[in-house]
Amino acid sequence: MSHPTHSSERIVIVGGGFAGLSAAVRLAQAGLPVTVLEQSKLGYAASSRNQGWLHSGAWFARAHPNLARMCYESLLQTLQFCPECVEPHYGSMVYFSTSNETGLGEWTQAFDQSGIPYKSLSRAQLEQALPTVDRRQIHAGLRLPDRSFRPDALLSELAAAARNAGAEIRPETFVDGLLTEDRSVYGVRVESNEELRARLVILATGAYSQTSFSHLFEPVAGSQSDYRLVRLKTHLRAVKPETGCDPFYVVDSIGLNHLPHFGTSVFGTNRWRVVSSTDNDQLDAVETEKIHEQLQLLFPQGFGPHCKIHDWAGTTVQAMHIEQIEPGDAPLPTIVDHSTEPNPVDNVLSIFPGRATLWAHLAEQVRKTVLERLESRVSETSQPPWAG
Ligand SMILES: Cc1cc2nc3c(=O)[nH]c(=O)nc-3n(C[C@H](O)[C@H](O)[C@H](O)COP(=O)(O)OP(=O)(O)OC[C@H]3O[C@@H](n4cnc5c(N)ncnc54)[C@H](O)[C@@H]3O)c2cc1C
Repeated sequence: MSHPTHSSERIVIVGGGFAGLSAAVRLAQAGLPVTVLEQSKLGYAASSRNQGWLHSGAWFARAHPNLARMCYESLLQTLQFCPECVEPHYGSMVYFSTSNETGLGEWTQAFDQSGIPYKSLSRAQLEQALPTVDRRQIHAGLRLPDRSFRPDALLSELAAAARNAGAEIRPETFVDGLLTEDRSVYGVRVESNEELRARLVILATGAYSQTSFSHLFEPVAGSQSDYRLVRLKTHLRAVKPETGCDPFYVVDSIGLNHLPHFGTSVFGTNRWRVVSSTDNDQLDAVETEKIHEQLQLLFPQGFGPHCKIHDWAGTTVQAMHIEQIEPGDAPLPTIVDHSTEPNPVDNVLSIFPGRATLWAHLAEQVRKTVLERLESRVSETSQPPWAG
């Protein structure tokens, strides 16, 4: 077979979740020919199976003010771009403490440093926002800008924006390998044996990066990679009908949080466990019990005789720079340029948002990296459709 290497100007993005679609918008806006290939329907994986928490960054502010700032910017851009993405029937998030020994001063100081606005709530306002929480468990609280958001609505809006900017989006198209010559990628092989040539391939494949494209991350004896992939698992509980409370976060628990969606309350914690790549989404009884215990404290009367409870677990893959600290603790948007890795391969990048909320930040970073790499023969001046 001949290799008309790099004969295409095309940028192929593999993966139609938040990372792939938002990057497609910004690259297509720059006038680049972009094709997104998604093995299933758009948002098939983590992007449609998450808790729907549009982070203000407040959760990260004490330990990681920069990450908190990024989240807040992304939240504002999400609201600007897709106001209908937030659940219309619920307010913004209430952060509250359950013990009078927990001061909120450290938190408000961190919010101030990260530029995240907040409002103190009186006892009456707290009880109004959390009408079904046991009053004995409510001590002090604040209102933050975090919202419950609808991932499906945001995905549709991003796909529409990418198409409007000229990107081609092909769902139900599985990429089963990279076309490579002399450690240089020149396209992808699609399952139907179609070969699609590209000058640059961007892998936005989330947790699949660890299985389908793991060779790109393989360690090489004697030289250390700057990045490692970490698979993280968390547990969630959905309760129907919902509690009637606004979204909330309990600051002095295991990070119990509540995100209401269309009549369903989804509870999670800040427990993200590192698991092996073979670990599936099976429930871990210890983790579900922890959520159960927290809910019993807050809702000792339960949720009524007709409530339906559904527990599930989900995994995500975070790319961590070697200088990053605990996995799950600082889910930064990350771009890995494989030409600079110990096992160098040219013309391929892997991209990870860290959290769905950070899609807008990641898209800007991808645009900058790609235009620099291509020594921008395109002049890109247009603002993103989510700019304020
Ligand atoms: C349980 C859970 C709860 C979460 N809750 C939140 C939350 O409340 N708020 C928040 O901000 N973040 C949350 N996150 C994180 C967030 O969901 C992810 O960071 C984000 O969705 C990742 O987006 P992505 O586009 O990188 O990956 P994905 O959404 O996983 O997209 C990857 C896409 O690539 C496709 N793909 C893979 N391999 C191929 C191939 N070979 N060919 C073609 N297509 C392929 C997949 O089908 C998939 O659609 C949560 C994550 C989990 C797991």
